[in-house]
Amino acid sequence: MHRVSLILLFIFVLTACVSQPAQSPGATTVVPDPTVAPTTSAPAPVEPTPMAAELTPAVVAAGIQQALDTYIEAYNSNNVELLRSVVDQTNAPFRRLVEERFNTFQSSSFGGMQFSAMRVLEVKARPHGFWQATINDGGFHRDILFIQAGDGRWVMSEPTEEQLGEKIKIDNEYFTLNTYEWAAEVNDVIEDMVIRARQQVIDVLGRTPDNKFNVYLRPIFGITPPVNPNSLAWYSAGSRPRNDRVDIFAPFSYAFGSYDPNVGWEGELYSTIVHELTHWAYTRAFAQEYRITDWMSEGLAEYVSNNPRRGAVSAAVRMGRIIPLVDPNGGVRPQDMDHMTTLEVDRGLAYGFAYSLVAYIVETQGGLDGFWRFAAAVRDTPGTGIEFYDKALQKAFGMTYEEFDAGWRQWLKENY
Ligand SMILES: [Zn+2]
Repeated sequence: MHRVSLILLFIFVLTACVSQPAQSPGATTVVPDPTVAPTTSAPAPVEPTPMAAELTPAVVAAGIQQALDTYIEAYNSNNVELLRSVVDQTNAPFRRLVEERFNTFQSSSFGGMQFSAMRVLEVKARPHGFWQATINDGGFHRDILFIQAGDGRWVMSEPTEEQLGEKIKIDNEYFTLNTYEWAAEVNDVIEDMVIRARQQVIDVLGRTPDNKFNVYLRPIFGITPPVNPNSLAWYSAGSRPRNDRVDIFAPFSYAFGSYDPNVGWEGELYSTIVHELTHWAYTRAFAQEYRITDWMSEGLAEYVSNNPRRGAVSAAVRMGRIIPLVDPNGGVRPQDMDHMTTLEVDRGLAYGFAYSLVAYIVETQGGLDGFWRFAAAVRDTPGTGIEFYDKALQKAFGMTYEEFDAGWRQWLKENY
């Protein structure tokens, strides 16, 4: 019955990053996924058909529109076979990206919602037979690459790493941007964005880490090693500070997702970079003094990047689906904010609640100083669960867990 725009999909399912556990800043980790075939053993990508020369933008747009209609039907009927019919099945990493996002959405609290049509706005030829389509997605925009399969159908796809062209390094005094020729039109824009994002983090947090870091721009999903398909960007702490890295999916790709056309992809990407650089700044300028839990880390990053995910959180509050700070029923896999990185569903939504917890502390406990008072109390408090929060909250704010929890829930109802 619900008619919602497709943007909700990405607000709800995309987690902003995979962060390093605060306890082990020493190693660069990547989440391995044994079910994924290495890209080297994947079948050859679909080659453009010989009639490629006859393709006009209007003909291509019509073919792509047909594929998008099927894609929406697949989402609305939870039909993975239908989804596969419009996705390049010869590109294993790409197929995995699209299917995992589909499955994440279908199993979320918002699975079953009905999406309205996606409309092709314009198409643009890219190298190796790809066409980049700009799509209106319920008022939001997104860019997806398509290629024509042997039987003439248009399917979503992406190039292989080899097809991305020359590797490019852009170096400045703060970081090295590692990118590809494929992303030539956005490389300078992104360099400038990272410079501004770094400054925003420093201005809000009030401390300046002194290490240079690396930024890796990924124009496609299928760059080895395999990464989490539900992330847009992530920070990895290096064994040495100069090995710190932020990986980012480039705009004009399926992995990048949708964006508000009034803000542009630049606006969406900028706040994501601020988020990741907040993890970097915490790790290099605060971690020695404090201890923070996962929700505190993600909430701080969302707070500094000013990303309340208001639509998703309001909907969840109205539906009575507030993710509790500590799940009173516990169990082997508690569904609560205290375990936000291992939630089975609604991980994207958990970022919105993490923001709200930090914003609630900032607004009611004397600004970010209140947050740091709590981070110091967390450092000095052993234990787990409600008992742990009760002690740390009493130490920092003179409040019991029950008082804090009730105050936060009341604040959510008043502010969302
Ligand atoms: Zn994060």
